[in-house]
Amino acid sequence: MSVLEKINAEAIIALENKYGAHNYHPLPVVLNRGEGVYVWDIDGKKYYDFLSAYSAVNQGHCHPKIVGAMMKQAQTLTLTSRAFYNDQLGPFEEFVTQYFGFDKVLPMNTGAEAVETALKLCRKWAYEVKGIAEHEAQIIVCDGNFHGRTTTIISFSNDENARKNFGPYTEGFIKIPYDSIEALEKVLQSSHNIAGFLVEPIQGEAGVFTPADDYMMRAKELCNQYNVLFIADEIQTGIARTGSLLAVCGECSCENKCEKQATYATPDILILGKALSGGAYPVSAVLANDSIMNVIKPGQHGSTFGGNPIAAAVAIAALEVVNEENLIQNARALGLLFRSKLNEYIKTSSIATLVRGRGLLNAIVINDSEESETAWNICLALRDNGLLAKPTHGNIIRFAPPLVMNEDQLLDCVSIIVKTLKQFEK
Ligand SMILES: *Cc1c(COP(=O)(O)O)cnc(C)c1O
Repeated sequence: MSVLEKINAEAIIALENKYGAHNYHPLPVVLNRGEGVYVWDIDGKKYYDFLSAYSAVNQGHCHPKIVGAMMKQAQTLTLTSRAFYNDQLGPFEEFVTQYFGFDKVLPMNTGAEAVETALKLCRKWAYEVKGIAEHEAQIIVCDGNFHGRTTTIISFSNDENARKNFGPYTEGFIKIPYDSIEALEKVLQSSHNIAGFLVEPIQGEAGVFTPADDYMMRAKELCNQYNVLFIADEIQTGIARTGSLLAVCGECSCENKCEKQATYATPDILILGKALSGGAYPVSAVLANDSIMNVIKPGQHGSTFGGNPIAAAVAIAALEVVNEENLIQNARALGLLFRSKLNEYIKTSSIATLVRGRGLLNAIVINDSEESETAWNICLALRDNGLLAKPTHGNIIRFAPPLVMNEDQLLDCVSIIVKTLKQFEK
């Protein structure tokens, strides 16, 4: 790296520091290009992307089919608002509902917006269909959840950093331990005012916590039993990331889109975002059947950009890529390989204690306190060795490469990770 180039990277970071709000703490690397599983920094150094923009870039960086669809639509019609029809939205709505097996979709832009949409939908259903008295509806959420950053969503977060001094908080949420069927049943038994249960099939931000294999199925059964909506936030786990189309389908062995599991733990409300556009454009969506979605009438919810023609065209292309390139099967196979290779290493490691995950959503736990800098320092060393990852919570490092990776590349990444961890062994 020449001195001049180094100054450039530092200068760009300095600009963000000076002119941008300090609401993130990025790893110091300045990227300016991406292709498939790789990104490049402004000095031309190539890295494996092992974060995939928090699983938005499942289809790989700048996928030609997705970018092609976006460019074509961008040159034709970008935005009409929903005051008028556009020729892309209807076809997208048909496509996405058939793809995931629901009657209807409500398109939004960001993940947090989609979660907000699901919460509103759930409450309205509770009053108008289930018959809960006005303002009494409660929604169950889990400890350690991450559902976004809006005022209502942070109201039921456990993350003090995300919550503190942002009150007063939105009411109507009951928090229970994650992965506890007993806790869920207890709350359901205790009140007639429960409208829904909002849950991540795997808690990604919290550190890739994978619940018991039957947790989703049993939770769904309980929700059915108590006439409570089972709301799955699959913004991070969905769209092939965990080796099945949706993570609510669990560790199924079916070859294609979990068809056998279609009734396994089908959510009443499904929330998608991130990879719905392959990272090309903000696209999120809430899916539900008519008996739920039909409670929303004109004027009761919306977004200027939600369902815009570019988003619609991009999302169809992004979902087609998932099928055309067998990303579900690839994520499953490479995930098994990744965990078996890392487990081999961890047996003799004093710095890494555990690898966990499903498909290509994985994390390793570093043998140090949550407050320690070790995981951050390991990520800096990984960067120097050509792989980009980020700690989630203190001592946990998430590993989530694009799903278009091949086996040779994955093994190359495993050797970079092992080499780097060795630098930190005591
Ligand atoms: C990223 C994420 C969100 C929020 O999505 P944004 O697009 O950042 O608003 C919500 N839930 C989960 C599980 C996520 O991973």
